[in-house]
Amino acid sequence: MISKILMPTDGSPTAKKAVKYAAGLAKQLDATITLLSVIEIDLGAFFAQTVSAADSPTHLIEPMENYLKQTAELYLAEAETILKQNGVQSKKVIRSGHPVEVIIKEAIKSKVDVIVMGSHGKSALKAAMLGSVTFGVIHKDTKIPVLVVRK
Ligand code: ATP
Ligand code: MN
Repeated sequence: MISKILMPTDGSPTAKKAVKYAAGLAKQLDATITLLSVIEIDLGAFFAQTVSAADSPTHLIEPMENYLKQTAELYLAEAETILKQNGVQSKKVIRSGHPVEVIIKEAIKSKVDVIVMGSHGKSALKAAMLGSVTFGVIHKDTKIPVLVVRK
């Protein structure tokens, strides 16, 4: 019944814990995993708001975006290694945008059976509450089940 799993990760310790859980689950079920990282900072909008909408500093935006992408590539590769060690097939996806929207879109597009994600992410604040990305995914109007791995 479960043959495709979506594992969105921000590279945080809780997301890493969720990757390990997803690896074990996929191994048992002989399922495949899509690893997804969403780059959530819109640098164009950031500079437009803080400096000037007129002259967007592309010479700064490009290297910053590349840096964010590289960071994502690093933790996706790390996650892929864990999956490989478990004999689990996976693919890596990097997208830009609002994490909740992008996660749901990818889940529908790839027709996944379950989304596995961490209860928390990179933000150290609000540790008592569920992270806003996980909260958002759970509360979206979709039938796709979500498995939340605790901190
Ligand atoms: P908040 O972002 O609300 O301040 P937080 O960072 O602690 O709090 P979330 O961002 O909701 O919590 O992270 C929970 C889980 O959501 C992570 O463990 C990860 O699985 C997923 N996630 C969060 N951000 C991203 C992202 N940018 N790309 C992919 N997955 C993400
Ligand atoms: Mn977060």
